[in-house]
Amino acid sequence: MNRRPARHPLSWLATALGIIWASPLTAFGLLLALPVILQRGKMHVVREPGFALVARGPFADAMLSRHPFGVMNAMALGHVVIAMRDGLSPRVLVHELAHVQQAARWGIVFPFAYLASSAWAAIRGKDAYWHNRFEIAARKAEKHF
Ligand SMILES: [Zn+2]
Repeated sequence: MNRRPARHPLSWLATALGIIWASPLTAFGLLLALPVILQRGKMHVVREPGFALVARGPFADAMLSRHPFGVMNAMALGHVVIAMRDGLSPRVLVHELAHVQQAARWGIVFPFAYLASSAWAAIRGKDAYWHNRFEIAARKAEKHF
């Protein structure tokens, strides 16, 4: 037998609630994904290990290479991941899906919690990105990849 184990019914409910809870962030993500799609970009759905819409294209490449935090391979906004065409390795995807899960857990509060964590790191003289607790958790998720 080579069947995948059935998911617990409550895990579907948790996923649905997370999608609703993060929907304001996802709406913002879709707004940013729109020019990516319209300018020769593509969108695909990721279902495992978590639900996300991934948008890639020349516009995403341009946007991510001018990111205020420095050049990024990808970024997650709610359940939307915007990624460079050649930057989305499985490892990067796992990292971004960790941020998708964080958004599903924290909802609309997430961007504020993220910035607060960066500020807290900076106040202590640490790197605002590297020592952000959400980045630390996402890097930890990469190790389980
Ligand atoms: Zn990250």
